[in-house]
Amino acid sequence: MERRRNILDMIGNTPLLSLDQGLTDSNCNFFVKPEFINPSGSIKDRIAKYMIEKAEEEKIINPGYTIVEASTGNTAIAFSFVGKVMGYNVKIFMPAEVGEDEKLQTMNLYGAEVVTVDTEQQAVGQDSSVHGGSIEVLPRKKCLEFEEENEQVWWARQFNNPHNSGAHRETTAREILEQTEGKIDAFVASVGTAGTLVGVGEALKKENPDIKIIGVEPAGFPWIQKGRGGINVIEGIAGGLLLDAIEIVDEVIVLKNEEAVEMANYLVQKEGLFCGISSGANVLASLKTSQKYPGLKNIVTVLPDRRDRYFTVKRYTT
Ligand code: PMP
Repeated sequence: MERRRNILDMIGNTPLLSLDQGLTDSNCNFFVKPEFINPSGSIKDRIAKYMIEKAEEEKIINPGYTIVEASTGNTAIAFSFVGKVMGYNVKIFMPAEVGEDEKLQTMNLYGAEVVTVDTEQQAVGQDSSVHGGSIEVLPRKKCLEFEEENEQVWWARQFNNPHNSGAHRETTAREILEQTEGKIDAFVASVGTAGTLVGVGEALKKENPDIKIIGVEPAGFPWIQKGRGGINVIEGIAGGLLLDAIEIVDEVIVLKNEEAVEMANYLVQKEGLFCGISSGANVLASLKTSQKYPGLKNIVTVLPDRRDRYFTVKRYTT
């Protein structure tokens, strides 16, 4: 009999869909991977599963341990879901300002313990909108303290755990290469931890060094661009993925939140893709990429999460 499958087997392997309803008159083909169909509603299911499996392989954790992470949304929900299914306790430190809504209830329902952290004094990042990580700096410090002060606790460290981008190198990128039969000219992804951009970008560049890897940043908080100038805009985070992103990215497109929302609405209404705000940003940046480089034939991006994540919260964070 075939091995028994469970919900974790439904993570990843998303289809490659084409956008064809009059988005542009260019000859370029725009493809999207609807990551919002992952079981807990976002692309972060991929990294939660992969990072936990790797931590098990590396004998860092065993079922029964507590996994801790700082996040306001998708990563926290994904760890709550995957962690519990794999037999772990899950504890989330969440910035209070953005933690009032259904997301918190979702984590609780999956069985995670959620601790809200008052980040009021911390002015950075709150308008970064499309996504972003700086609002979680204080919650990340809590994760570190909690890990240091307790036995059998593992902080997953989404911002500098190499298995974050590893998940995308091994799954998202492999799928894209198969689904496009390698015929891809550009990959576009908005940047939170940069795991998607770095993991997919590295794998695609290995196959085709000429491919363009395009990062997308919210206008309010363009850290890759500032980082290039040597300014360390994200306090308290080790280089890791952020520096890798600067290496791999060919170009960064900076978008305003309103533009991203407008495109996300278009995708819902015209294409029936019930996706979140960074998905709008990714598609808009794909269009801008094709305008700038008219020779490109196939551009691929991801639709990271579901639109209902944003019904009550107007700030869009990681
Ligand atoms: N969009 C959304 C909605 C996200 O939650 C995230 C992750 N924080 C991203 C985009 C960016 O993904 P990554 O962390 O892989 O850069």
